[in-house]
Order: sequence, then C-alpha cells, then structure tokens
Amino acid sequence: HAKNSGANHYRMFRADMAAVIVRYSHIESQLQLALASNALFIDFQPKIDIATGYLCSAEALVRWRNPSLGLMPPSAFLPVATACGLIVPIGQWVLSETCRQLKAWREEGIDIVPIAVNISAVELRDNTLPARIAAILAETRIEAHYLELEVAESSLMHHFSEESKLTLKALRQMGIRIAIDDFGAGSASLKQLRCFPIDTLNIDACFVHDMLDNPRSASFMKALINLGQNLALRVIAKGVETQLQLDQLKAEGCNGAQGFLFNQPLSSSDFRALLLSDQLGQVSRYRLPTTSP
Ligand code: C2E
Ligand code: MG
Ligand code: MG
Repeated sequence: HAKNSGANHYRMFRADMAAVIVRYSHIESQLQLALASNALFIDFQPKIDIATGYLCSAEALVRWRNPSLGLMPPSAFLPVATACGLIVPIGQWVLSETCRQLKAWREEGIDIVPIAVNISAVELRDNTLPARIAAILAETRIEAHYLELEVAESSLMHHFSEESKLTLKALRQMGIRIAIDDFGAGSASLKQLRCFPIDTLNIDACFVHDMLDNPRSASFMKALINLGQNLALRVIAKGVETQLQLDQLKAEGCNGAQGFLFNQPLSSSDFRALLLSDQLGQVSRYRLPTTSP
C-alpha cells in the first residue's frame, strides 16, 4: 500500500510540476511579447525627507498589464523573468523608461527628483551594465545623480561575485547612488557590507512594522539607524504606515521614509501631478512628524 500511495504521490507531484512548467513557459512567452508591445509600465512611489516633510525621491516599480491575467504585480512575474533571463531586458527597459520619463517631465519644465530603480543580482553580473546605463543617461541627458540603484541585501549573498562589486563600483564612480534594499532582512555579513560601495540603507519594512509593539524590534530599528549614521549613509525606513511610526523614526534620526502613510505607488500621471504641486509649494499633503526632538 505504501508503494502504491507513493506512486500516486509521485504522479500527483509530476502533474503539479507539469502545470507549473506550463504556467512558467506561458508567462515567459507572454512576457517576451509584453516587452515588445508596451504592456509593461512603471508606477512611482514617493520617498519623503523626514526632517522637512518634502518629497525627496521616488522608487520605480514595474507592473504588467496582461491581456488574459489582468494587472500583475512584480511578485507574479519577476521570479519567472529571473529564472529565464528575461530580467535583463526587463531591467534595461525599466532603466530607459525611467530616464525617458524624467526627460519628458524636465522638457515640460517640471523639477524632477532622483528615482530609485531596483536591480537584481543577475543584472549586476552583467558587466556591460555601466556602459548601458551611461548610454541611457547620455541619450536622455539625465545626470547620473538622478538615478539610484536598489540592490536587495538578500541578493548579495547568493549571486554576488567580485565582478559584481566592480560593476557597482563603476556605477558609483559615474555618480549613480547605490542603496541596499530590505536591509536587515538578508543574510549578507557585515564583513561583506564593509567593502561594499553604498550611499543608502533602506531598512526592511518588518522593523518598522513591529517597532511600536515589540521593544526588541524597536531596539533593532534604533541600532540599524545608528549603524547607517555612523557610516555616513542615508537611512530610509520602508513600509511606514502610521503617524506614530513616523514620529518614532524622526526621534531616532532616520533620514527618509516610504510607505502607505504618504502614498501608494502612483501612476506616472499622478506622480507628475505630485511633482507639479510640489513645485507650486502645495506640499502640505505630507505629514510632518508631530514630535519635535
Ligand atoms: P521593494 O523594492 O521592497 O519595493 C517596495 C514594495 O513594497 C512595493 O511592492 C510597494 O508597493 C510595497 N510597499 C510600499 N509601501 C508599503 C507600505 O507602507 N506597506 C506595505 N504593506 N507595502 C508597501 P511591489 O510594487 O509589489 O514590488 C515588489 C518588489 O518587486 C519590489 O520590492 C522589488 O523588489 C521588486 N521590483 C519592483 N520593480 C522592479 C524592477 O523594475 N526590477 C526589479 N529587479 N525588481 C523590481
Ligand atoms: Mg526597492
Ligand atoms: Mg521588498
């Protein structure tokens, strides 16, 4: 009986695997079409300078309007894209679309802000990345400091090589800012981080989420902010959803914040409107911390 059920189990497993593979290759071929047919687009999620309450930058977040599956978040297709290598042309598209958008806004007379683009470890293994980004910047005449690259801490351990570090150094030498994303949630060692060329720590949302209920999380948050400060890095808290969290972050000297308290990711036209109102001095929409240090 055990043998039988084992065989059944095996058949079921195979069926599941086949379904997964079919789904993957379906998504892969559709993604290829999406890239070629403008079905990808970018939302922009603001980041706020905590001391002033001003918009200071935004993060570019890719989305896919799929004709049969609907609007797909990155978690639904980036794993497939990473597995099949499409992440490289998708990343190239996000970078060039971001700079093209900045150029278009600038040509309208809008004051632009730096935009952060997420970069996967796979993209960093390609040492043509600095030259490709340099070409995009030259073509759109966007200065390098308007671009920040976010590299997830979790990706540093696995796909990271000495060559990737040289690629990051080259990017930083061009004037592009480098952030470690989801800091505290990955498993990079402090030894690795020590020799890593960076400007910004984006603290993982889990620390912000728990810091008011859990004293240990609060202590970790404080320690991570201090670590960043002592290394002269900008520290950005991710996933800020409440005024109380913001007040606490301000008291601890955190530089910036991103989260639903301020904005959800915005369509490019909504983000454009925000840039415009910012320019007109109508920035009151952003909550300032209610405490003074
Ligand atoms: P991420 O870099 O950590 O981006 C922040 C994610 O947190 C976004 O999810 C955003 O919508 C969400 N978020 C922001 N504020 C809050 C909040 O206050 N509460 C909660 N619960 N969530 C919040 P999204 O857009 O689904 O992106 C997921 C991930 O996909 C990103 O995480 C990033 O790792 C990846 N990703 C997005 N766009 C790209 C891209 O162009 N290239 C690459 N390689 N990865 C990307
Ligand atoms: Mg990010
Ligand atoms: Mg994340």
